[in-house]
Amino acid sequence: MKQAVFVAPRHVEVRDVPEPRRGVQEVLVSVGACGICTWEQRVFRGVRPEYPLLGGHEVGAVVVDAPSSTGLRSGEVVAVSLLPRCGDCPFCRSGRSNLCSYANAGGPQRRPHGPKGLSDLLVVPHVDVFPVGAAATCQDAALVEPTACVVHSLDRSGCRPGELLAVFGLGFTGALHLAAARARGLRTVGVATARDVDARAPVEADVVIEADGRDPVRSIRAAVGAEVAAAVVTRGSSASVETALEIVRPGGQVVLFESVAPSVPLNLNLPRLRTGEIVLTGSVSHTREDFAAAASLVASGAVPTGGLVGRAFELADVQQAMLHAVAHPGRRTMVVPRPR
Ligand SMILES: [Zn+2]
Ligand SMILES: [Zn+2]
Repeated sequence: MKQAVFVAPRHVEVRDVPEPRRGVQEVLVSVGACGICTWEQRVFRGVRPEYPLLGGHEVGAVVVDAPSSTGLRSGEVVAVSLLPRCGDCPFCRSGRSNLCSYANAGGPQRRPHGPKGLSDLLVVPHVDVFPVGAAATCQDAALVEPTACVVHSLDRSGCRPGELLAVFGLGFTGALHLAAARARGLRTVGVATARDVDARAPVEADVVIEADGRDPVRSIRAAVGAEVAAAVVTRGSSASVETALEIVRPGGQVVLFESVAPSVPLNLNLPRLRTGEIVLTGSVSHTREDFAAAASLVASGAVPTGGLVGRAFELADVQQAMLHAVAHPGRRTMVVPRPR
């Protein structure tokens, strides 16, 4: 079978490798779509030079062979979680498997490493396979992984049904946040950042604030008053975080979702942080429970998959797919190893 390997900056190859065989508690799937996320883009661009990488972690697939005890049927469309979780560290045991010590250990790793989603076939533990319903395609299922990250982020925000959530950044992950937030009954305000000019996704929000160069705090207050319960920053780095900390109401939460440079200066309004008991926190990846919730969300049709998926490429054209993904970050570029 074929498998993509990131071997050097701006160079990804397709290699012939032996087909995997499934073990007793494992499932063999054929990959029908794999979304190109920022991780793969950074490795491709050379910003994260971890070569060789067997990339691809946003997988929609078709079951080929599964143990009968799993209830999975061959031919069924599923989302596959490729994040390693040991299941046994203090984080995994306390329901925070996204922080798994084993998965985040770093240090000397086996080479080549990676989730291998850009392959024809995958063998995965049955607990990492999630059906997405009869109506969903593999490309829909490939959006479950980024949706799981968003589900985790919305939980971190503490925003409850009826409350107002601000989402900074109207790119792919901003649009996913707005869709998932509406599905859980939140009111939404989308805030465009300077970056959204050339990488915007189609979004649905109750209110959209444009990045017009004016004072964003004033624009947001003028549009929605002082009722913002929580904010998620998907773009705009410290400028968005500073604005978010100003516009959330007392008791509010600000979640940093965007993966920013190692260190950026931040102008903190400490008196407001203290007297408003405002929380600034981060959100990273997802737990298995988030993944299951995201699979249900995609199965329900609440995620506008059509508007968020960009061009699709065959696995043989993965180099072109990477160039396209880097140039068009507003929608998810897909690689289709095995068309259905
Ligand atoms: Zn991803
Ligand atoms: Zn663990």
